[in-house]
Amino acid sequence: MKLYNIKENDQKVSFAQAVRQGLGRNQGLFFPQELPTFDDIDSLLAEDFISRSTKILSTLIGDELSQETVNAMVDAAFQFPAPITGVSDDVYALELFHGPTLAFKDFGGRFMAQSLAAVSDGGKITILTATSGDTGAAVAHAFYGMEDINVVILYPKGKISPLQEKLFCTLGKNIHTVAIDGDFDDCQALVKQAFDDAKLRDDIGLNSANSINISRLMAQICYYFEAAAQMSKEQRENLVVSVPSGNFGNLTAGLLAKALGLPIKRFIAATNINDTVPRYLETGQWEPKATIATTSNAMDVSQPNNWPRIEELCRVKEWGLETLGKGAVTDVQSAESVRELYEKGYLCEPHGSIAYRVLSEQLQKGETGLFLCTAHPAKFKEVVDDILGTDIDLPGPLAKHAAMELLSEDLANDFELLKDVLYQVTKQ
Ligand SMILES: *Cc1c(COP(=O)(O)O)cnc(C)c1O
Repeated sequence: MKLYNIKENDQKVSFAQAVRQGLGRNQGLFFPQELPTFDDIDSLLAEDFISRSTKILSTLIGDELSQETVNAMVDAAFQFPAPITGVSDDVYALELFHGPTLAFKDFGGRFMAQSLAAVSDGGKITILTATSGDTGAAVAHAFYGMEDINVVILYPKGKISPLQEKLFCTLGKNIHTVAIDGDFDDCQALVKQAFDDAKLRDDIGLNSANSINISRLMAQICYYFEAAAQMSKEQRENLVVSVPSGNFGNLTAGLLAKALGLPIKRFIAATNINDTVPRYLETGQWEPKATIATTSNAMDVSQPNNWPRIEELCRVKEWGLETLGKGAVTDVQSAESVRELYEKGYLCEPHGSIAYRVLSEQLQKGETGLFLCTAHPAKFKEVVDDILGTDIDLPGPLAKHAAMELLSEDLANDFELLKDVLYQVTKQ
C-alpha cells in the first residue's frame, strides 16, 4: 500500500510507515495513492464479517502483510458484532457500541493496535497519550495484554467521570494510568514535552497512537459493508447513511467504503451546534468558532482534523461536496429525538439521536435510512436518564469495571517525574 501526504504530495510512505508515524511532514495527513474497487459487491456482502473485512483490508494493504496476518489482526480486533436494528419501516440504527468500551472507537483503536504490532521491527513500543475520558479507554482496552507494547495514559486527576476512570484504570498488566495533578491541557503539554525529547523518544520507542492514524479509518470502512450486508438488496439500493460527526473520521471511512464500491446513495454529515462543516457546505467559508460544550460531548469539535481527507477523496473521485447532506442539531432537539426514538421502542443516546434527527428530516420516499449509533446509551447514562426519567442499567463491561480497584498512580504536573515513570515502566 502506498500513501501520500495531502499537504506535501512528494512524501510517499508504506502502510507500515503511515501506521508508525501517524502524521506526515508539516502535519499533513496520509491518503491512499490508489483505491481499489470491488466489482462483485453482492458476493462480498454474502461473506461473514471477519472474512469480508479481511478481504477488504488485505486488498487495501496489498503485499506488505500476508492475508493470514491480516486475518489474524481482524480476528483479534473485531471480536464483537455491529448489528442493525429497525426503528421504523425504512429507518435502521447501526449499533457500533458492542465493544469493550461501548463506543465505535473500539473498532479503529483495536485494529490500530494490531497494525502497530504487525509492523513493529521488534523494538520496544511505548504508547503515551493524554485523555479526558473516551480515547484513553479505547486505547487502553485495545492494547491490553499485547506483548512488547507498554501503554501510559495521563488524565487530569478528579476531572473525569468516576465511571470513565474505572473503565480504563483497572486493567493493570501493560496498561499504566497516571492521574496528573492538573487539567487536561497540562496532560497534553506533558505528552508534547515527551515527544519533543529525542533521547527519551528513542530510548523507549514513543508512539502516540493518535486518532488520525490511517489504520483506524481502514478498520471503520468494514462496518459500513457489514451494515449493508444485513439488508436486502432492494433496501441497500437506495441507502442514505447519517453519521454523527466530530472529527469526521467516521464519515471519511463511510466515503471510503463508497469509493471501494459499496453502493451508498448519499451521506449526511450530522453535527451538534459545533457546526463548522455544515456551515462550510452551505456557504463555502471555513469559519471555525470557539468550541461549545454540548450533551453530545464527543462531537464538541470545531476544527475537525479529518476534514482534509474528505476534501481529498471528493477531489480524487470527482464527487461534488454539495452531494453531501448536512445538518446541525441543538441539545434541545437531540433530547426530543431521544424521546421520539424511545417512544418507538429504541433507547438511544444524544450522539446517535443527532444522526437520526437529520436523517428523518431529509429521508425521501423510497429510500432506506441508516443512522450510526456511536455509543451505548449507558455510556451517557446521566444525560439519557435526565431526558427520559429512566434509570438505565449499566451493561456488563461497565458494571464489571465499576466494581474493580483503581490502579492509577498520582503524579505532580512535572516532566522529570513523568520521565522517571516512563523509564520505570519500560524496564519491566
Ligand atoms: C468520537 C465520537 C464521535 C465522533 O466521531 P468522528 O469520527 O470524530 O467524527 C461521535 N460519537 C461518539 C460517541 C464518539 O465517541
